[in-house]
Amino acid sequence: MRFITTRICGKCKNKVILEQNDFIYYKNKYYHFDCFKNKLIEKKRNSLSIDSAMQLANQLKYDSDNNVFVIDTIDKSHLYQYLQKTYGIVYMPKFIYQKFSDIFNGTYKNIMNGQGIPPCDLLDMWERKQNFLDKTKVWNESKGKVMESLQLIQYDLAIIMSKYDSYLKWKEAQKIKTIDRERIKNEMNDKIDYGKLGNSSNNINNNDDNNGNNNGINISDILDEI
Ligand SMILES: [Zn+2]
Repeated sequence: MRFITTRICGKCKNKVILEQNDFIYYKNKYYHFDCFKNKLIEKKRNSLSIDSAMQLANQLKYDSDNNVFVIDTIDKSHLYQYLQKTYGIVYMPKFIYQKFSDIFNGTYKNIMNGQGIPPCDLLDMWERKQNFLDKTKVWNESKGKVMESLQLIQYDLAIIMSKYDSYLKWKEAQKIKTIDRERIKNEMNDKIDYGKLGNSSNNINNNDDNNGNNNGINISDILDEI
């Protein structure tokens, strides 16, 4: 695993590894999936059966996976881990975090007109441009312009930001290519008669209904005491 983001489990107090563990994010706390499920089963009042707890935990896991705050937290964590490793920085000072926060929000130096750059885009650009940034660093150093890590991060950040518009255009072009590829693939698939091949392609998406159908369970009642 390339990145590791940990939080403390609201029940067992051990680490929840967001990239590895099944987890649930509920009321600003992270829980291992099983810890949360057990919490529902062990509740003193209105405790749930194992099946109902499982069902509810699955639904909340689905919500957690799609929670904007959680996705954002993980994306930021990945960006910062990448930068710390690439630039050899153990602790990033507060002003750097503030700078990034302004860039995410589009409020940086009043030059972004509210058009923020999401952390996942920054990381993607940074990784794609790392070679170029490294070469620029070597070139600068050959001219006697040597920067320490924190200076260099900000210098490289300025380069990355200046390329955001062209990155967005490039990304859009990639999207169109992907859609085209999908279209061609679908056209080819249409020409193949899977029935004759005896292929059971109908079974692929069988678990579509697993999420969101908590028959008769009132979530807010059950979770009130957590
Ligand atoms: Zn736990």
